[in-house]
Parts: sequence; C-alpha cells; structure tokens
Amino acid sequence: MVEMKTYDLVIIGAGPAGLTAAIYAQRLGLDGLVLEKLAPGGQILLTERIENYPGFPEGVSGPQLISLMQKQAENLGMKHEQEEVKRIRLSQHKKIITAESGKEYKSHTVIMASGAKPKRLGVEGERELTGRGVSYCATCDAPFFKDEEILVIGGGSTAAEETLYLTKFARKIYLVHRRGMLRAQKILQERLFNNAKVEIIWKSKVEKIYGEGKVEGVLLKELEKGKLRNLSCSGVFIFIGLKPNTNFVENLVELDKNGFVKTNRDMETSIEGIFACGDVRENSLKQAIVACGEGALAAHMVGEYLSKVKGIEYK
Ligand code: NAP
Repeated sequence: MVEMKTYDLVIIGAGPAGLTAAIYAQRLGLDGLVLEKLAPGGQILLTERIENYPGFPEGVSGPQLISLMQKQAENLGMKHEQEEVKRIRLSQHKKIITAESGKEYKSHTVIMASGAKPKRLGVEGERELTGRGVSYCATCDAPFFKDEEILVIGGGSTAAEETLYLTKFARKIYLVHRRGMLRAQKILQERLFNNAKVEIIWKSKVEKIYGEGKVEGVLLKELEKGKLRNLSCSGVFIFIGLKPNTNFVENLVELDKNGFVKTNRDMETSIEGIFACGDVRENSLKQAIVACGEGALAAHMVGEYLSKVKGIEYK
C-alpha cells in the first residue's frame, strides 16, 4: 500500500484569509494545499463594492479583489483542490482531513479559514420561499426585483450595504429592524437615511413570510405594542449576521458560545497544529483586510510551529 503523503500545511477555505495564508505559506517554502468547496472567494464574492480595502482608492468589487489574490497565490505556486472538508481527526500529532468525496489528506498542520455563512431567520415561509423571493444575497438576486417593492431584515453593515445596492433596482425598500437604532457603520447609516427609496420600520420583526409559490408579503409585528400587520412585497432579503463554518471540527477544537473558533493571539486553536483565521474565528472584526492580516499571521505561526516539530527553519 502506498503511504499517504504528509503535507506541511492544509488550508481550509480560499477566501481572503485562506488565500493570504497560502501566499505567506508559499513564500515560506511550505508544502501546502488549499481545499475549497466551491470556487475561491467565499462571502466576499457576494460583495458588489469594497471601499475599505487599502490600495483601491476608487473601491473594488469582491470578485475582482479575490481573483487578484488567487492569481498572486497561484503565481507563487499555490496548489488547490475543490473539496468540501467533512472531518478532521488526529493521528499521532498529524491531522487527517476527510473530504466529502471520501478522499483523505494528511498534514502536520491545518489553517481553518472556512469563513461563515448568512444566518437564517427561522420563521414560517422562509425555507419554502428561499429562491422564490427570499434571498440572502443582493448582488445575486437584485436584478429580479426591478421596480418592485421589497423588504430587507437586519440592522448591521451588511443589511445597510445590501439595501443601498438594492435601491439601484427596486422601487421601494422597507428595512425592518428589531431595535430603534442601527448597528451599521455611520457612513452607511447616513446613506440609508438620505435615500428616498428606503423606509426604515423600527422596532419590528417579521413573524411570517407568505405567498403562493413566490413571496407576496410578510406578517410584521411591532414589538412595543405587539401590533400585527400585513405588508405586501415581492422579495425578502435577510441579513441578520453570520454563522461560522465549523461543522468539520465540532467536538475537536474549542468554540465560543456563538460557535466561532477560539484562538490565542497567535491564531492557535485549542489543538496543537490547528490554527484559525478570518470570519470563522472569535472576535475577528469581519473585514477582508482583517482576514488577510490574520491569514498572514496564521501562516507565519505555522512556519514557527513546523520549525519546532521538524527542525527546519522556515523564513
Ligand atoms: P451583524 O453586524 O451581526 O448585524 C446583524 C444585524 O441583524 C443586527 O442589526 C441584529 O440586530 C440583527 N439581527 C440578528 N439576529 C436577528 C434576528 N433573529 N431577527 C432580526 N434581526 C436580527 O451582522 P452583519 O451585518 O452581517 O455583519 C457581520 C460582520 O461583518 C460585522 O462585524 C460587520 O461590521 C462586518 N461588515 C462590515 C462591512 C463594512 O465594513 N463595510 C460590511 C458588511 C459587514 P441588533 O442590532 O438588534 O443586534
């Protein structure tokens, strides 16, 4: 039987954190591999315009930024495979990574850069009408709602940015938020308040999404008085935060109460040789630039760890 190859490093996820880790790992001379379940990118592919990534004074689109990162990593010799990781187990200090395809990979170290996905609201009608008017991505679905009346749920920066993008298509947008103030960055709040197409419905929540085969409206609850009312709309966009992609390490690495991976400041998880960076990590500011910084640090710390384990100086 052929002995399974042992990589120095397997990086899980090819968003900004994973690709930056790959760039740093290649430059350290590590024998690394990136596993990504879809195309490189992750959440950032859904972002139409990024205005806070330094070096792009006019802003840059998510897909454009990620393709530049991917090209840079590939130019440095990054290897990657399209695989969804199902599980990691430990075998004598080595990490065995099992993919959905059944294939296994062995590595001295792992960097979890698996990101996060949009949270579900959990109300009646949401699941049945997903793809039939319920959406979690404005960039993907906005053109379907040209001149229509739609509704957005959430009060964070994602809800604000996506609402602003939707104003380019929809006639009117109701932004439903459960409190009396938004959590979004101030600059985004100002743009929302100044946009005539946006009406904010404060201190309210959506109780139910309804429609025959496609969204026709929602049942809204005003939270202070408990008053219920129907509101017609043809689309419901939900942006209420993120759920980390950690299924493959449950019962292995330590997670915080919201399911994000706990690390120390060197990006080390509770398991020796497993590191985490970017949106999947607790307390990480969910920004591309931060994910990149954490990816760089994680790869550097992998180099330090391998120097200890293998006695080779990685610089
Ligand atoms: P977020 O900042 O966690 O905001 C989630 C929003 O959804 C909050 O307003 C929250 O209400 C609301 N919410 C949560 N659960 C809800 C529920 N069950 N029902 C109704 N409303 C609910 O999430 P995010 O906007 O997705 O952003 C994620 C991270 O990415 C944040 O750290 C954000 O700063 C960052 N981000 C930054 C930018 C940028 O810099 N341009 C853009 C996008 C995202 P409460 O306010 O009442 O808690």
